[in-house]
Amino acid sequence: MTSTGIVRKLDRVGRVVIPHEILGYLGIKVHDFIDISIDNSNVVLHKFEPGCVFCGSHRVTSGHKGKFICRDCRIQIHSIAQNVY
Ligand SMILES: [Zn+2]
Repeated sequence: MTSTGIVRKLDRVGRVVIPHEILGYLGIKVHDFIDISIDNSNVVLHKFEPGCVFCGSHRVTSGHKGKFICRDCRIQIHSIAQNVY
């Protein structure tokens, strides 16, 4: 782990502002989702990138009702649906 030397104070509801420099370094943009996890006694933030619900691919192309699907799985499902009817 690399310390940035940046210290921030949590506000009264537990929020903290992540410096722009760190966001830019990690490729995180405003309105991206952040995954929060715990590693021993450390809080770890990761950019959340939704994966396909079927294969786990992060090359997601569409979403429906909060679930995401990649192009390959969408094509396979479409093919299966055509054979059913
Ligand atoms: Zn998939």
